Amino acid sequence: MSWQDHAACRTVDPELFFPVGTAGPAKLQVQKAQRICAGCPVREVCLEYALDIGESAGVWGGASEEERRSLKRRRSRRQAAAARADATSGGPAESRARERSVTRPAR
Ligand code: SF4
Repeated sequence: MSWQDHAACRTVDPELFFPVGTAGPAKLQVQKAQRICAGCPVREVCLEYALDIGESAGVWGGASEEERRSLKRRRSRRQAAAARADATSGGPAESRARERSVTRPAR
């Protein structure tokens, strides 16, 4: 059994999670999808999965496309800072930074 088997969206029309556009009805569609994600028991793993594979379309883990782009930028900056710290200290700062990072989908 995988995490997808526990997804709250399993019985929902998948189209809801892939709005066309970013304004008007698409915004409402994203909010509706995010409300489903809010009660999903696998929200965090879903978000991590989407970030790991670079999924750019749709709502995953309660995060919209724009929110995931922002999370990815922050993650990249953190990793770059950790790599710089590694280079100067000789320690595995990146793994420590990753352990500390907690990604929470926006509501
Ligand atoms: S977090 Fe949202 S998109 Fe991900 S499995 Fe749960 S309901 Fe589906």
